[in-house]
Amino acid sequence: MRMIELPGGESVPTLGLGTWFMGDHKSEFEREVAAVRYAIERGIRLIDTAEMYGSGGAEDVIGAAIKDCGIDRDELFIVSKVLPSNAHHDDVIRACERSLKRMGTDYIDLYLLHWRGSAPFQETLDAFEELQNAGKIRFNGVSNLDKADLEEWFYCRGGSALATDQILYNLSRRGPEWDILPYCQERGVPVMAYSPLEQGRLDGDPALDEIASKHGVRPLQIALAWVLSRPGVIAIPKAVVHDHIDQNIKALEITLDQDDFDLLDRAFPPPTGPSYLEML
Ligand code: NAP
Repeated sequence: MRMIELPGGESVPTLGLGTWFMGDHKSEFEREVAAVRYAIERGIRLIDTAEMYGSGGAEDVIGAAIKDCGIDRDELFIVSKVLPSNAHHDDVIRACERSLKRMGTDYIDLYLLHWRGSAPFQETLDAFEELQNAGKIRFNGVSNLDKADLEEWFYCRGGSALATDQILYNLSRRGPEWDILPYCQERGVPVMAYSPLEQGRLDGDPALDEIASKHGVRPLQIALAWVLSRPGVIAIPKAVVHDHIDQNIKALEITLDQDDFDLLDRAFPPPTGPSYLEML
């Protein structure tokens, strides 16, 4: 597994597993638990979730998957997120406790503010600091913050300990290259790219088809390999189908050449100016 450093020096994998839409339906629970377990068996160690996903259901799935999975808890890196509606101080503490309970773990490795709401950043940060001091979270960060929001976060008390900004970033969403990626790179903060496959919608793109046939792989593996090739970026594709999990792990072995990058730049041009940060 390829690794990347968080600002504190901790190494984390550049490829993880997303879990949005897991935990939505009881009938899918066992299949989703099996998928997370399969991913862990295949070497995935970073798992992304949120209290929002399946209204806690995705955290239940993770709890069931990591229980007796044969991998020590400290080998996993679990990311979860607090909703903006729970981002006031006491609500953060309570939301975190609920997430810990659902996942059957004593700590969350990285706890993120899911997106900006009405709670002042400083209040959320103070709660994060308290949770860190109590050993309930190891690192904190944010999600869906644009550069202006990041600057504001960074200058709050404790804000410079930011471990990541988790944002929508893939070939068809390159806006963050203009400002967020450089801003984070200057500070040694990895960006966590969510929906790196654009939820599958990149499938069928002619440029991806062409490069995929050249490398003898699938088009979405090229889309993922491109995200994984970006410096300072972690990708967290979600997959339940075991073959998808395998394909995503194999994408780590794909080396794109200059012709591939040029073709992808023509098909998916990089930004030429600032834009609003998109969200899914
Ligand atoms: P995604 O990872 O881009 O795409 C997931 C979809 O692609 C699923 O339908 C999956 O199918 C399919 N898929 C996965 N690997 C594939 C492959 N190799 N070939 C073909 N299809 C494949 O989209 P996402 O779930 O929106 O994003 C990933 C994760 O980012 C989420 O799960 C979540 O953890 C996080 N996220 C965070 C935010 C935020 O606001 N912070 C927002 C969105 C997402 P199967 O599941 O059927 O295998």
